[in-house]
Amino acid sequence: MAFTLSGDDAIQELQPSPIPEPYWVAFSSSAAALLNIPLKSDGYPQDETWLNVLAGNSLVTQSQKFSHPIATVYSGHQFGVWAGQLGDGRAILLGDIAGQELQLKGAGKTRYSRMGDGRAVLRSSIREFLCSEAMHALGIPTSRALSIVGSHMPVLRETLETAAVCARLAPSFIRVGHFEHFASTQNIVQLKELADLLIDHHYPECRNSKNPYLDLFQKICARNAKLVAQWQAVGFCHGVLNSDNISVLGLTIDYGPFGFLDQFQIDHICNHSDHGGRYAYQRQPQIMHWNMACLASAFIPLLELEHSEEEAQTLLTNALGEFPIAYGETWLSLFRQKLGLGTEQDNDMDLIERLLQVMHDSKVDFTTLFRGLADINTNAPISEIKLRNDFIDRDAMDQWLDDYKKRLKIESSVDTDRKQKMNAVNPIYILRNHLAQAAIEKAQKKDFSEAAKLLSILEQPFDEQAQYQEYATPPSPDLESVEVSCSS
Ligand code: AMP
Ligand code: MG
Repeated sequence: MAFTLSGDDAIQELQPSPIPEPYWVAFSSSAAALLNIPLKSDGYPQDETWLNVLAGNSLVTQSQKFSHPIATVYSGHQFGVWAGQLGDGRAILLGDIAGQELQLKGAGKTRYSRMGDGRAVLRSSIREFLCSEAMHALGIPTSRALSIVGSHMPVLRETLETAAVCARLAPSFIRVGHFEHFASTQNIVQLKELADLLIDHHYPECRNSKNPYLDLFQKICARNAKLVAQWQAVGFCHGVLNSDNISVLGLTIDYGPFGFLDQFQIDHICNHSDHGGRYAYQRQPQIMHWNMACLASAFIPLLELEHSEEEAQTLLTNALGEFPIAYGETWLSLFRQKLGLGTEQDNDMDLIERLLQVMHDSKVDFTTLFRGLADINTNAPISEIKLRNDFIDRDAMDQWLDDYKKRLKIESSVDTDRKQKMNAVNPIYILRNHLAQAAIEKAQKKDFSEAAKLLSILEQPFDEQAQYQEYATPPSPDLESVEVSCSS
């Protein structure tokens, strides 16, 4: 969907800045299928002009010409503080193909680069690429990653690294921060154009509602409430939930210092620059709610087109109040599925929370524990359940297992059926930090095979891939604390 607003202060038309001697680092054939790009047997495009286009070195493929690349302006709250104007400082939107916006991240400076160099490094591009595709395969809404193109061009971060361009796809990259921008500059004409554009292209069901903008706000909140519940259920920490990193389509976007939980620690902080733990695992739902409150503020002028100031505020406050309810319902439903519970019982929340508490106390691996629960033989004595050995407080876990077995009996759960259902929602393979790190270190030596292998494993996260067992196991203690900084 073309991002077109009146006035020329909302966007900058510009060309990506070329990188020297570009080469393929990674390519997602499943993302390419979204754009109907024909591929060779090696998985890269038949039309070799794509390499230069996805590097930002050309705007023309054999079948496509990108005539109006743009960068867009947005503002936002960073770490809870109003940061003022930001914008696409290093992402350039090439254009639309087959309902997807194609954006190049790391494609050079824009009007919104501020002090930045407009570039992204190979390390962070590999992380974004792999995680985007992994999240998609887990069934979690996300921007997609089409490719990474590398170059020997040096880029300075904490150390000297090399540049890469990650091509990403989404039906739209509009963020909460876009709305905050036009609201903060009191540019109501553009604010309304933005809301109308979003409705027309992505929320057409709001168009004929009695109160389209309220309806739009509610739907954005609902999508993000569901999204954050899905993150919690898979142990994903985003790391930088600033309002400029929150999609109004409810997609996971802007992968930076994210992390999947290895050991379950409810207060886990994946971003080492997040000293206060604002974006810790258990705070994500509350922070997403807070971001929806930022969006609500930005929507006030839209509702004031039809309502008094007081009415507008009441309507939005009430709509915002739905967020925790929607989040809680989805969370409970997802964790019921993770435990293989097919019915709803009053004590389910308590059962789930008690499990998480013992997991936290014993620092048990989140992913392998849930996957392992599917193998429990409900007819065998608890002393024979192997995973109980992972818990320090074995009595507490035994008690929990006993209650879990009783709970399953209530609904006459059949082990084989339950296992099948649980295995369809509890992944074996997630993008653990140490796995991403291994792929990065090889890629930095020009060996891209590990990134490709990891991509193919993560594309089927629920399926046992016998030859890749070591990709399912938690990191050894020396690999547990792979540091992830904000610098990307
Ligand atoms: P992020 O933390 O990556 O979401 O970025 C926050 C803001 O800083 C966004 O406006 C980015 O476009 C901008 N930014 C981040 N890194 C760079 C960079 N290397 N060059 C220019 N702008 C950047
Ligand atoms: Mg961002």
